[in-house]
Amino acid sequence: MCGIFGIANHADASRLTYLGLYALQHRGQESAGISACDDAGVATFKAMGHVADVYTERELQSLPGTVAIGHTRYSTAGDSSTHNAQPIVAQSAYGEVALCHNGNLINASTLRRELEEAGAVFQSTSDSEVFLHLIARSGAASLEDALVHALRRVQGAYCIVLLNKGTLIAARDPFGFRPLCIGRFDGAYAVASESCAFDLINASYLREVQSGEVVVVKDGRLRSVEALPRLDSGKCVFEHVYFSRPDSTVFGRTVQASRDRMGRILAQESPVEADLVVPVPDSGVTAAIGYAQQTGIPFQMGLIRNHYVGRTFIEPRQSIRHFGVKVKLNSVKELLRGKRVVLIDDSIVRGTTSRKIVKMVRAAGAREVHVRISCPPTVSPCFYGIDTPNRKELIASSHTIDEIRKYIEADSLAYLSLPGLLQAVEGSGAEFCTACFTGRYPLDFGSDMMDAKADDRQMDLWSAPDPDIRDLPVLSPARTGRR
Ligand code: AMP
Repeated sequence: MCGIFGIANHADASRLTYLGLYALQHRGQESAGISACDDAGVATFKAMGHVADVYTERELQSLPGTVAIGHTRYSTAGDSSTHNAQPIVAQSAYGEVALCHNGNLINASTLRRELEEAGAVFQSTSDSEVFLHLIARSGAASLEDALVHALRRVQGAYCIVLLNKGTLIAARDPFGFRPLCIGRFDGAYAVASESCAFDLINASYLREVQSGEVVVVKDGRLRSVEALPRLDSGKCVFEHVYFSRPDSTVFGRTVQASRDRMGRILAQESPVEADLVVPVPDSGVTAAIGYAQQTGIPFQMGLIRNHYVGRTFIEPRQSIRHFGVKVKLNSVKELLRGKRVVLIDDSIVRGTTSRKIVKMVRAAGAREVHVRISCPPTVSPCFYGIDTPNRKELIASSHTIDEIRKYIEADSLAYLSLPGLLQAVEGSGAEFCTACFTGRYPLDFGSDMMDAKADDRQMDLWSAPDPDIRDLPVLSPARTGRR
């Protein structure tokens, strides 16, 4: 979960990168950074916080040059601090190199150990720094060859952009886990995690960076290198469910279309007699519109989101997240009073958010609350860059749908089926990673990731830090391997 952007061959490269990052802010809010390059070398400015807070005119003016890359960070590996902010910059035999990464490497600790034993000194705890060390030590004749050498050694999910001596390089892993697309603007080429970044700068969408492809932009020309085999079997379906913006084209299809279909198929699979369809904003809105249109039940914004609060989940500390739900959402009592409500959200992770929202909707006077979720139950953690918690904290990994329904105190609960989800994204299942719903990982995550995330214990609601869920009955014991 991060946003990356790069542009080459434009006099205003850093300002356009700033705008691109603005559009990619939803992908990470912990830190923002830009590196730009002119004849004098690479200049970088990065800091903790949102793009709008990190940059003023002064910082942008300190980033001259025709090539720039940028990053908005949400930490999934390494802690949330300035030394992990990106771009990461290093001096190498190829000159100064700056790098931004979106994704999660699954063999980063092994590689890091190896590199440290060989004398490498790391500046950060982020897995992304491994790329630069591998590049620096490759001994290859050119940066491009050094990168290909590095890519052959890393395993996992990555989209990266690099900057070096007036050259922009972008690469995507062979599975294509995370999105990266190419745009054209005013004689320049741009790359971005999502196409919504191109809309803001008026760039036109050209295509995706292909899985396993390295793209080099130099002197206004774009060259493609088939660096690694194109496996194409790991596109993260959760980008379409939740993470990407609905106005983006991701993996070659619009997120809006996917979410609308998720809502429609959910309505066909799990209809319910009700007076209102209410989304959990913003994540549930598009699917809720699809659900309402399919059923003919009126759509109403019965919950209002305070847009000046970050995503609750984005805060690494649990206590802040739980507090955040109340800060973030409020009910519109006039709409909900006396109504049978279908509440639509994109996903249930721990279940605490849904439980609070159902409570809020009932407190507003709703007669019935039926929860519909526009993806299948989240049963397994992600090792490829989506911030999902340990397995034991995923409520659906150890509880039945009816147990979850009781926990969130809904009158009914239904999830979109896996075939329904694949139908919504028009996928056969072969090109998408659905590990969070199936536990089937396209790339074995190996010993490096065998940490608490894969822990098979049952979610323990009693130890939840949230005071108003402490008095709940204990749910039945874990049934691992159920799905
Ligand atoms: P929970 O209380 O853990 O069940 O939170 C579920 C809410 O978190 C839903 O409204 C989702 O939109 C949102 N959500 C799901 N996955 C993520 C994620 N990886 N990062 C941030 N928010 C998420």
